[in-house]
Amino acid sequence: MKNIAILGSTGSIGTNALKIVRSRPKDFNVIGISGYSNVSLLAKQIKEFNPEIVSVKDDAVIKKLEKLVSLKGIKVYAQNIGLNKIVINKKVKTILVATSGTVSLEPTLEAIERGKIIALANKEPLVMAGQIVMERIKKNKGYLIPVDSEHSAIFQCLKNEDIKKLRKIYLTGSGGPFKKLKKSQLEKVTLAMALKHPKWKMGKKITIDSATLMNKGLELIEARWLFDVEPEKIEVIIHPEAVIHSMVEFCDRSIIAQLGITDMRLPIQYAFDYPQRIDNDLQSINFLKTKALTFLKPDLLSFPCLAIAKQVALKGGSCGAVMNAVNEIAVQAFLSEKIKFIEIPKIVSGVLKKHLFIKRPNLDEILKLDIWARREAELLCYQH
Ligand code: NDP
Ligand code: MG
Repeated sequence: MKNIAILGSTGSIGTNALKIVRSRPKDFNVIGISGYSNVSLLAKQIKEFNPEIVSVKDDAVIKKLEKLVSLKGIKVYAQNIGLNKIVINKKVKTILVATSGTVSLEPTLEAIERGKIIALANKEPLVMAGQIVMERIKKNKGYLIPVDSEHSAIFQCLKNEDIKKLRKIYLTGSGGPFKKLKKSQLEKVTLAMALKHPKWKMGKKITIDSATLMNKGLELIEARWLFDVEPEKIEVIIHPEAVIHSMVEFCDRSIIAQLGITDMRLPIQYAFDYPQRIDNDLQSINFLKTKALTFLKPDLLSFPCLAIAKQVALKGGSCGAVMNAVNEIAVQAFLSEKIKFIEIPKIVSGVLKKHLFIKRPNLDEILKLDIWARREAELLCYQH
């Protein structure tokens, strides 16, 4: 029986994780969960999984929650201390970090210091502060197992391999809903069109990032830190069928790939059970029905977010934190229909160019830059 906690239990990743727990009640004990404001789903999860600690947005949400479910014997905290309370709980051994954005950074760092096993779905800790995160892992007992499907694939491909013999990582992506569109056609795309991902069902933020290809850019930076490889060794390729979740090539030109259906329960389960593999009732790929596996070069002119992220990966330092913060604000503005799809990369590159670059930012500098970049992005998104 594993004692686990799920940060972001009401989200797309969180609910998939709880499906795994539901199907294997003898294997997992849910000690802590966190949501933000979706009280009805949180109430259901509390009734079903009986956690000891719950974190939500604020006291107003706690009051709403009390009306829906008995909170007797459960410690319920507001977000400002709640995530930390879950992470530092001694019973919790494995933590799935799958909250929204930047809030995932500090709990991840705390979990590393507390020696926890972190199933990491959030990209933000590594994009914002990859160097600090990986340095803390070297000093502490905590470690990361990636949940992002591509990184889970790479992690599986590299198992028992000598990282020094790695020649290249092929980071695959389905290309999102607009892969066949050119720059001029992207001017007219609507929010509804951007929210229709052809292969994956995910939260809104990552769905828009998939449409702009910023998601692949964030993943490139995530992979760079997670596997300690130079960004030049990571090649993004569009693979519309999304059967191959990523590949690695070794110095002898041998390539290992991980394949599977597009269901996030696969990488979540892998992270929960690592280093074991456990049977499940997910579907297998039927190769006889898979007509072809195709690969395309990403179109960096039509999808400048990926080009920006590549530059950010190469330059490093404070760029990741700034890019991440501005992108979060720009995507939010697009989701609120305040800016057009094609404005997202313009806003990201505008603020990136303006920022005062720091080569080795500490955590405090990263958090300050995050706030600065958000303000700059808000000015561009909402005051024009
Ligand atoms: P969702 O938007 O579906 O879920 C976000 C979760 O975080 C919800 O539980 C939400 O609570 C909570 N939340 C929202 N705002 C805050 C806040 N300010 N503070 C604390 N918690 C908050 O996201 P996803 O599950 O899609 O993604 C989570 C992370 O995993 C992202 O970093 C994403 O990039 C990554 N990821 C997701 C994949 C996917 O398939 N979805 C694939 C690979 C990576 P509430 O519901 O109450 O608002
Ligand atoms: Mg991914």
